[in-house]
Amino acid sequence: MRKKIIAGNWKMNKTPAEAVELAKTLINKVNTNTVDVVFCVPYIDIIPVCDVLKGSNISVGAQNVYFEESGAYTGEISPLMLKNAGVKYVIVGHSERREYFNETDDIVNKKVKKVLEHNMTPILCCGETLKQREMGITMEHIKMQIKKGFYGLNSNDAEKIIVAYEPIWAIGTGKTATSEQAQEVCAGIRQSLSEIYSNETAQKIRIQYGGSVNGKNAAEILSMNDIDGGLVGGASLKEEFADIVNY
Ligand code: PEP
Repeated sequence: MRKKIIAGNWKMNKTPAEAVELAKTLINKVNTNTVDVVFCVPYIDIIPVCDVLKGSNISVGAQNVYFEESGAYTGEISPLMLKNAGVKYVIVGHSERREYFNETDDIVNKKVKKVLEHNMTPILCCGETLKQREMGITMEHIKMQIKKGFYGLNSNDAEKIIVAYEPIWAIGTGKTATSEQAQEVCAGIRQSLSEIYSNETAQKIRIQYGGSVNGKNAAEILSMNDIDGGLVGGASLKEEFADIVNY
């Protein structure tokens, strides 16, 4: 039985003071008894939010990382720094990073490996554009992202990764994939993983859905067989996030 995991992606929102306030508001509202809960906050908010969450079951995640430990990489942040600050999860390959910062599958794969090396959990994002969906090449595209994202990793490492299926056309648009569409792709991802590794390994890997998840649609989406949680953008900045976790 895979434990559900709900992660909030705060994106480039909340100053440190605002982040502390939001974390304090949510901490008493989310029920973490049966669900893993993660706040993926901006880098500058990591330390103060970790302080607020000390003693709770909520973990802090980062939204990106660089694949070197240290050195002349102005403006980047290393996995070592994140680990030391208290980060447990790192989103890797979000579609916004792929689109605006030219992250390729090869870069994503390097980052996934580094995150694992530092005993943090990568949340590896994949998803198709509207054009790809209309052209009927959704699964082909996602299978390639999965293959490249997991390249060079053994099953032991693969089992530690969380995959987030996020159709790009559903992110921040208010358009949610139907629960059937989301289930179909998540089942396809699990099928690819079983072809790369084994059915046993594929059954252990948690797959989230992301794309306009909110308090109203969470229960239906999260009830699907191959959907083991949600990656939540907009609604993670509001008290509504607690309704998603407590669905
Ligand atoms: C996201 O950015 O990962 C996301 C799913 O955003 P939203 O929930 O706002 O669509």
